[in-house]
Amino acid sequence: MSKLKIAIQKSGRLSEKSLELLQECGIKISNGNQKLKTVSSNFPIEILFLRDDDIPQYVEQNVADIGILGENEVWEKNRKVETIRKVGFGNCRLALAIPKDEIYTGISYFNNKKIATSYPKILTKFCQENHLNVEIEEISGSVEIAPGIGLANCIFDIVSTGSTLLMNGLKEVETVANSEAVLIKSHNLSGEKQKILDKLLFRIQSVIYSHENKYILLNAPNEKVKDIISLLPGMKSPTVLPLAENGWSSIHSVIKEDEFWDIIDLLKEMGAQGILVVPIEKMIL
Ligand code: ATP
Ligand code: ZN
Repeated sequence: MSKLKIAIQKSGRLSEKSLELLQECGIKISNGNQKLKTVSSNFPIEILFLRDDDIPQYVEQNVADIGILGENEVWEKNRKVETIRKVGFGNCRLALAIPKDEIYTGISYFNNKKIATSYPKILTKFCQENHLNVEIEEISGSVEIAPGIGLANCIFDIVSTGSTLLMNGLKEVETVANSEAVLIKSHNLSGEKQKILDKLLFRIQSVIYSHENKYILLNAPNEKVKDIISLLPGMKSPTVLPLAENGWSSIHSVIKEDEFWDIIDLLKEMGAQGILVVPIEKMIL
């Protein structure tokens, strides 16, 4: 039986999360990422550990069937691959930054400036769309030191917290794009490999849903049950069970992780008690 070949980052910001995602999908992987490749003992998959920059090319050329990498690299490399879905980590933004003492006058500030970046294609496209005439200085790493050493006036780079910029005397002035890790696939997968991919995607979906959602249990007076249910969208409809104490019910449902603080305030206002919010191990839809 053939194996689906997945390329993930060998070492860097996405490596651990990519391995974790596969492991949460129940895929056993031996030997960590010290090797160039490894196979799973319980799922027809082979894992290739590569530099993230190379993954689009490997997937385009069918050396790997699928890959996990930052969408920023997918845009920059512009290879013939298909982006299937986001995988729930690696959030960052591509931004323009200038020396912190400069006065920023708006996007035309960049006209006739020299900009250092590892993302020349994305930057070129942005400058064309905004009719900016800039000089692009392509460098492969440590872009943030370029203005300090006189290589460029400003930079275009990945930012997540902004602390690296601050440390280098820079300030972020324009966000060009938001990026996160995605799963990509080759355009020519065999039917057999597509079947394995479908199986993997089903598992990934369950894992990501479980990360994004929480299971909530609470007690409420019977006359409030209807109102409380209307606040809890849940998967279908919430489970309502009678409590031993007369006139009270227990309500169980699923809520989105990022909505739950808002909802919880409202629930308390409606008289809910004993609210428990617990993580979900897997959620099958
Ligand atoms: P490689 O050796 O594989 O080429 P790299 O140095 O290009 O590694 P990392 O710094 O590990 O890559 O970043 C990998 C990806 O992680 C980035 O392309 C981006 O999508 C994402 N990312 C998330 N937050 C950040 C951040 N603060 N800085 C850089 N990349 C980030
Ligand atoms: Zn890289």
